[in-house]
Amino acid sequence: ATPTAVMVATGVGANHGVLIKGGDALERAQNVRYVIFDKTGTLTQGKASVTAAKVFSGMDLGDFLTLAASAEASSEHPLAKAIIDYGYHYHFFGKLPTGKTIGKQSKEDVISEWLLEAMDFSAIPGRGVQCLINGKKVLVGNRNLLMENNVMIPMEAESFVVELELNAKTGILLAYDGTLVGVIGVADPLKREASVVVEGLKKMGVQPIMVTGDNWRTARAVAKEVGIEDWRAEVMPAGKAEVIRTLQKDGSVVAMVGDGINDSPALAAADVGMAIGAGTDIAIEAADYVLMKNNLEDVITAIDLSRKTFSRIR
Ligand code: ADP
Ligand code: MG
Repeated sequence: ATPTAVMVATGVGANHGVLIKGGDALERAQNVRYVIFDKTGTLTQGKASVTAAKVFSGMDLGDFLTLAASAEASSEHPLAKAIIDYGYHYHFFGKLPTGKTIGKQSKEDVISEWLLEAMDFSAIPGRGVQCLINGKKVLVGNRNLLMENNVMIPMEAESFVVELELNAKTGILLAYDGTLVGVIGVADPLKREASVVVEGLKKMGVQPIMVTGDNWRTARAVAKEVGIEDWRAEVMPAGKAEVIRTLQKDGSVVAMVGDGINDSPALAAADVGMAIGAGTDIAIEAADYVLMKNNLEDVITAIDLSRKTFSRIR
């Protein structure tokens, strides 16, 4: 392709909201053999919402939700937002505490007054969060997080989590002072175009693969729903890059589509890194393409554009 053709293609891309960082990136996309999709925020909308909350310890449900929201207050994970929002609605929908007039106080003000103080907050990638509330250790996250902290998960709580997972939902567990308190079920629906794009890629001879830090049962259910046969679950951030390097060993050209901070090592490792939507700055930096519209159809647009620029018109 001539420099002019590359310039034209870059302009066409930009008009579609597909930002291409240079001619090399544009050229590599034509030969993509695998497209690796992150699950949360990439295949799914990243707009999680709580569908169930259950206490297994005798704690009041409202107190449980307050604890969970307080622990998640410093997290930027989509799951954290869902948990805080649910707790807020549980506590304040139609029943603001006396002396507080709704309308004068913003939702943020109400939330910050309601939440308990959390000390020593830390986010554990692929696991969840931990902090101290009332001097006691609070853990909010998946099974692995609790198991690594030697928290026993009662059988009824485990079966509740399994049931959520079989329905493509994620079970978030909360432990307070070493004891499991309850479980919150979170749903994150697929993007509307997800399965059409997966089908389209297959027709183009490109193999879609899903990688996620989420558990295998939820991953399996989501992969089935979207039509992806090859999926990897419980993959830590560094593991996503490792999956890519393994696929590259036979010379295959691998694209990665992701949105989160977690995805930046993988976006950098891929031959064609595509940051999607309102992705984090760090993901955008690591990527070769930015899909501004947060629409998965642009993965196909990008590959098409490269094929048209380089292989067909020669
Ligand atoms: P993905 O690869 O699908 O984007 P992540 O690596 O971000 O997933 O997270 C993997 C898992 O870790 C989540 O499914 C959840 O179980 C747990 N997790 C991560 N962050 C949080 C959080 N802030 N609160 C609760 N659980 C979390
Ligand atoms: Mg993600």
